[in-house]
Order: sequence, then structure tokens, then C-alpha cells
Amino acid sequence: MSRFVYVNGRFLRRNDAYIDIEDRGFQFGDSVYEVIFVTKGCLVDEQGHIDRLAYSMGELGMELPKSPATISLLIRELIRLNGLTDGLVYMQVSRGIAPRDHLIPRNLSQTFVMNTRQVDLTAKPSINEGVDVITVRDIRWGRCDIKTTQLLANCLVKSEAIHAGADEAWMVDENNFVTEGSSSNAWIITDDQVLVTRPPTHDILNGITRQTIIDIAMQNNVVFEERAFSPEEAKNAAEAFFTSATSLATPVLSIDGVKIGGGVIGPITKILQDQYLRYAQQTSL
Ligand code: PMP
Repeated sequence: MSRFVYVNGRFLRRNDAYIDIEDRGFQFGDSVYEVIFVTKGCLVDEQGHIDRLAYSMGELGMELPKSPATISLLIRELIRLNGLTDGLVYMQVSRGIAPRDHLIPRNLSQTFVMNTRQVDLTAKPSINEGVDVITVRDIRWGRCDIKTTQLLANCLVKSEAIHAGADEAWMVDENNFVTEGSSSNAWIITDDQVLVTRPPTHDILNGITRQTIIDIAMQNNVVFEERAFSPEEAKNAAEAFFTSATSLATPVLSIDGVKIGGGVIGPITKILQDQYLRYAQQTSL
């Protein structure tokens, strides 16, 4: 647990921080968030995360709580106060506090909080050894490109995966195509070594890690195709993995019990994983 958190302009001890019970983030999920990966003192893809926060807020008729430069300074101050070297920075902005009403009020004073967690994500067994995935129906709303805190469907399918002895759930749309993981983007590598992931429409969150992995794949001459794939295609793929700020690039060893690439980490996945970490640890704070 971090020693200090940021709440509406102040750095407070964790136990002194409170949010009002009529905060719309709490009552309606009327709030957005970001999670930024920190490794060896490097804040990874900070600009991309702040830009996406602005995008999510814009889509919901809200504005950033502070300028990008000020948010950046506040993140650095929280990192310094907590002595964070490895882990993550969490930020959340809700529309604000108002008597409970579905009608969205104008001009509320937003609730802006930040927290950090110290954990060496690069040492996670799941990332280093790979994991199993199950497929489930995608029951979410139509704007999954907005990073809101309405995550109940995601929590349900993640829990289903864990209870089934797997680590992540890949959600499948009504046309039998994989959308994404409960908190990650889904990727496969076909038998002829083509890297495939779903295009960033309203159906998925356009992961910041996803965008960086695409850049890295291009730099490493990996052939890349942005298109949807079915669970059946994924089960027949040579390799599979998923990406996010907290799972980095996590290899998938099986899907619904079907082994992928003989159930071992694939060579292209390994290259992308290594290159991603190298890229991450070169970012300056
Ligand atoms: N999809 C979903 C549903 C997610 O929750 C996340 C992680 N927040 C991602 C994809 C990956 O996004 P990012 O790479 O920006 O962490």
C-alpha cells in the first residue's frame, strides 16, 4: 500500500483519504482511469496514458482535471513521496459529487485521485512462464474504447478465469470474434508468422502497450495484420499472448485447454517481450 495518495489537490496519507458517498464514480461508474507501468524508475508511455485519459474524458463530455504538464508533475511528486521504483501509478477522475440522479449534471467539481503500488511486475511468474486463457461471452456495453471504471463485466470474467484455473478470459463477440481480455489486449501469431490483433474500434480499449508493441513489431520486421480473429483461429495459432500496462506481454500457453504452440512460450512472443522491456527501461522520468 502506498504511503501517500493524491486527492483533489492534496497529497494525503492513505488512511486520511476519503471520497464522498455521492461521488458519481462510486454510484454510476461515471469516471475514467489510467494505469501506468513503472520499471526501474522509468514511467512507461506516460504521454500515451495522459492522452488516452483526455480522450476518455472527452468522449464523456469532461475535460482533463489539470493540464497534461501539471498531471505529469503531480505523478512525479507522488512517485517521489512514495519512493516508487517499480510498480504502477493509478489515476482516476470522476465527474464529481451530486445528489444521486441519472441525469448528468453540468459543471461539477471533479474528483481526481492518484495512488501508486510498489511491485516488480517484471518478476511476475505469469509473464515469465506463461498462462492459460479461457474464452467467454463479451457482455459489455458498446463503448469499450473509453477507459471507464465500469468494470463489473471484466471483474466477473476475470474471476471466472481464475476459478477455472486459468489466468485471463478472452471475450468473444456475437460474431464469434475475440474482442480482448478482461484487462488486456489479445494477440496471436499465425503459422506463417503473422502477428494479428483486433483493430481499435469501439469494441476494445486501444491499449497503450498494444500501440507500443505494434511499433516494436514493425521495428523488428514482424509482419503485422490488424484484424479480428476467432477463438478457433487462436486455438490453431503458432503463438498467443496478451498485453497491458500490468501484464506487459504475457505468453498464452493454452486457450480453453487447447495447447498453443506445444504449450511453450513462442519465439516471436519472447522477442516482443524482451524488446518491450528494453524499451520500457530506457524511458526517462
Ligand atoms: N483492454 C482492457 C479491457 C483493459 O482493461 C486494459 C488495461 N487497462 C487493456 C486492454 C490494455 O491497456 P493498456 O495497455 O493501456 O494497459
